[in-house]
Amino acid sequence: MSKDFPLTPEQLQTLVKKFPTPFYLYDEKEIRENMRYFTRAFSIFPDFREYFAVKALPNPYILKILASEGCGADCSSLPELMLSSLSGITGKHVMFTSNETPASEFVYAGEHGNIINLDDITHIAFLKKALGGKLPETLCFRYNPGPLKEGNAIIGKPEEAKYGLTREQLFDAYAECKAEGVKHFGLHTMVASNELNPDYFVETAELLFQLCVELQERLGVRIEFVDLGGGIGIPYKPDQKKVDLDYVARGIRAVYDRLIVPAELDPLSVYWECGRPVTGPYGWLVTTALHEKHIYREYIGVDASMADLMRPGMYGAYHELTVSGKESAPADHVYDVVGSLCENCDKFAVQRKLPEIVPGDLLVIHDAGAHGRAMGFNYNGKLRCGEILMRTDGSFRQIRRKETVDDYFATLDLDGVAEFE
Ligand SMILES: *Cc1c(COP(=O)(O)O)cnc(C)c1O
Repeated sequence: MSKDFPLTPEQLQTLVKKFPTPFYLYDEKEIRENMRYFTRAFSIFPDFREYFAVKALPNPYILKILASEGCGADCSSLPELMLSSLSGITGKHVMFTSNETPASEFVYAGEHGNIINLDDITHIAFLKKALGGKLPETLCFRYNPGPLKEGNAIIGKPEEAKYGLTREQLFDAYAECKAEGVKHFGLHTMVASNELNPDYFVETAELLFQLCVELQERLGVRIEFVDLGGGIGIPYKPDQKKVDLDYVARGIRAVYDRLIVPAELDPLSVYWECGRPVTGPYGWLVTTALHEKHIYREYIGVDASMADLMRPGMYGAYHELTVSGKESAPADHVYDVVGSLCENCDKFAVQRKLPEIVPGDLLVIHDAGAHGRAMGFNYNGKLRCGEILMRTDGSFRQIRRKETVDDYFATLDLDGVAEFE
């Protein structure tokens, strides 16, 4: 089954005349509908919130759309906290899940009343010092279950991951914070990335719920929210299946009824901090074929590069690629579709069966709406592309312009370079 793209070849041609390729295109209507489905699935919990992982698509227009659908923001740096503020996401609707955090960032999150999710037991004292001797009223801790949970290929084994506190440390951390007068507690974990097995998330929730019960029994600490992290995958390959969020929600609800309700911990809020499943499938990188080259393999060179979309080069990630106007043409050619970086891993598709491509063809790289433009970089003097939003009414709005040479030079101290010897 071929993947969806919201524009006909004629509509795309018209758009490209106004906004030259390469660019990212996002579909507001699909993002909203998908978020409503997500929210509906989890409405079987007394209090649910998705804190959108800002790193996946750090653009205030997108954040405002998601905020209007009830989302909060999950941040890991000062600029992300500031972007969330700017988008009207404030206070407890911002989760600060960071690691190796500088004091100044804790200060900003503290002053703005954001929920701080600590990555280590030693960060309690660090945070207290940063905030002038007083801990916030609400604190969350990130749990690393180590050998109790298998990771997956992208994130690796929890035992080898730098994140979070061990099980023993968690008990000490909550006890310490309770003694320090912290009033509200959350518990977080994130142990998978791009996982498509829905049962995996039910198991993760069970792990956290068991801990909530144990924390109550051993320390009298009542956890008020669990944050299940991100990690819900999307079907990048045409033969993969979307995670059924209704199934995941019902599965987690059954564990909730078995563990949380009898322990009298109900109501317990359930949060996610997903990025990928929220915007990933509703963003596309549009690029033009510039060159064809016939050496030991057949190559198509395009005007985007790994500097615009790093995932294929970095993790060998698969992204579906279609040729606008040739959706039903036979895939009777085998190509490597490549960008212009002086790195041979700069390939959007490797030995991929595609219809015949000629210079000037518009290529659509699918599922680029999360961890796409955001992971871009400037190596080789590549200027990252811009972003266009297709509004619900079908109109288009540029929400980030393409970088210019001036942007590239902006951080250089050029005063005096002419005289420099
Ligand atoms: C990356 C990340 C997320 C979002 O992950 P997705 O795979 O985009 O859903 C959420 N929380 C933390 C702590 C992360 O590092």
